[in-house]
This record gives sequence, structure tokens and C-alpha cells, in this order.
Amino acid sequence: MNYEIDFLPVGNGDKSGDAICLRWQEDEKYKVMVIDGGTKESGEKIVEHILKYYGTKTVDYVLNTHPDQDHASGLSVVLEKLTVKELWIHRPWNHTKVIIDYFEDGRITENSLKERLEKSFKYVKPLEDIANEKGITIKEPYQGKQIGIFEVLSPSKNWYLHELIPDFSKTPKQKVESISTESDSLIERVINWIAETFDKETLKTDGTTSSDNESSVILYTKINEKGILLSGDAGSRALNKAHEYKNNLSDNLGFIQVPHHGSRNNVNPDILDKILGDKGQKNENKTAFISAGKESSTHPRQSVVNAFIRRGCKVVQTKGTSKRHRNGTPDREGWSTAEPLEFKKKFQE
Ligand SMILES: [Zn+2]
Repeated sequence: MNYEIDFLPVGNGDKSGDAICLRWQEDEKYKVMVIDGGTKESGEKIVEHILKYYGTKTVDYVLNTHPDQDHASGLSVVLEKLTVKELWIHRPWNHTKVIIDYFEDGRITENSLKERLEKSFKYVKPLEDIANEKGITIKEPYQGKQIGIFEVLSPSKNWYLHELIPDFSKTPKQKVESISTESDSLIERVINWIAETFDKETLKTDGTTSSDNESSVILYTKINEKGILLSGDAGSRALNKAHEYKNNLSDNLGFIQVPHHGSRNNVNPDILDKILGDKGQKNENKTAFISAGKESSTHPRQSVVNAFIRRGCKVVQTKGTSKRHRNGTPDREGWSTAEPLEFKKKFQE
């Protein structure tokens, strides 16, 4: 089966987002999917990309992995300018009856909770509005759902509604990020340079990320016997749940998206062993893509790049450019083979 996966650059600064287009052949015709839309500007780029390289105005599936601005907002442009058949988003405001008990505010009602959730999902709610206006089918991406050839591995509906959503409001993202930044700077004051070898790994075992990142939709499929795993900004909690649900993930894995732009808070040696296989793989039989902001100093982390290379991955990053992984689809004028990132034995983090 012919297919291609395009990672488009998001913005020009130090922030990182995702804007991913892909298509696969089904009985002579291609199915087209967009996973996250980056900023509004990247939304425009996605539209141009699909018209130019996929030669169609129709997108079969649009998915938002989680509600961050750099992942969600560009999708409104895609919905407005192209013909979209299905929109896949989480809509927690439709489940207030189930979750209201987690919100311990005496005066809270189902209606006020609905409003509060819609407000905090301010880049996703407009997608629902556009879809309703245009008569686009809306579905929620929970574990076990099938989106074209992809299966959703995480989050499960239960975990999402009963643990992640209540935690969204209690633990604002900034809190989790600032805790980890503090401990990072403490380590950096002591060790400026990190030394690794192909066998010696320094990637920490206790990295954590926010519940909104953990709510990222994790997708899996097998094409031509090779596994493809797309992970948004998921962290080790979600990746472990995905692995529990499908524990042969590492079998013949061919392509993986490095979660959260190569942050070291989202992966650890244990979960990477489960997904990629043990370290010490000299044969680079997998491809790993990283969406990283052009000027970002923290995306990707070299310790993460090394960890993926150690487990048999050729690692490619966007850093302001588009990158494509393909099988059997046509050549493109002016596109050349991407230069993979190098394994580094000494680096600053
Ligand atoms: Zn992100």
C-alpha cells in the first residue's frame, strides 16, 4: 500500500507544535488525513500542501490530538477552506453529567461546568462550531475507535473523563512545567556537560508531563506489515496505557513520532524499551520524526535523540522545514533525502 506522512513546520520561533498531513492508498484512491493544525499560519500551509501535493480538496479525517493552541488552532483554517468529511475531537463539555462530582464547587451546575470546559478548550470549541455549521460529522477519539486505517490506543474514555479532565483544571500546565524546569536548572548548575555512550544512557526515569499533554490521542496502524505510531504530546503515562492496550507495539515498528517535540519529560528508558525494543540496536530499521520549533533550545533534547538512535531509529527533525516519510508515492520536485540527526557522546542539556 502506498502512503506518505508529512510533518509541516509550525511557526518560526522557539515554540513547537504539530501540523501533520498524511495519505494512504485504498483501492486506487487516496484517503487523506490531517493530524493537528499548528497555528493559523500553519493551517494555511496545510491547505496549500494538500492542494499542491495531494491534488485534492477533500480531507477524509481531521483529528486534534489535544487542546493546545499550537496543535488545534490551525485546524479551523482546514475546516473552513477544504471539504472535510469527519472531525475527531474530544468534547468533555458533552459529558458533564458523568464528571460533575469531580468539580468540588458547591454552586457548580452542569451548565456552568459545560461553559467552563468550553472556555478552557478555546481552540477546540471553534472547530466544533465550524463543523456544525458545515454539517461535518464529529466523533470523539477514544481508545478502540477506528479512524480510517488508524486505531486509537489512548486515552480510554474512562481515563480521559474520570482522571485527566478533572486534573486539567486542578493542575494547570504551568505548574507541572515549572516544577520540572526548576529541578532541571538545579541539575544544570552541577553538570554542564552530559556524557553518554551507545550503551550508557542518562535519560531520566521520572519525567512527567501535564494531564492535557497526556490526553493526546495516540494512533497506531500497520501498513505493509510495518507499524506506525503517532503520539502527539503524550507522556509516559499515556504511552504505558497504549502499550498495555496493544502490547506488541514494538513488533516490526517502522515509523514513530517522537512525543512532545523531543521533550525529555515525556519518555523514559522503560517505556522506550517497551515501544522500540531494547537499547543497543545497531541496525536503524525504524524512522522517528520530531516536530520541533525552528529556534527551540529544548526541543528536541539530545538525550532523547540518543535514546531513539540507541533503539534502532533514524531520527529526523522539522526545525522550520517540512519532512516526509513515504512509501511508493510520487517524487516531488526540489525535495531531497533528509539528513538524520547524529548520535552525540557529549552534549549540553
Ligand atoms: Zn506540542
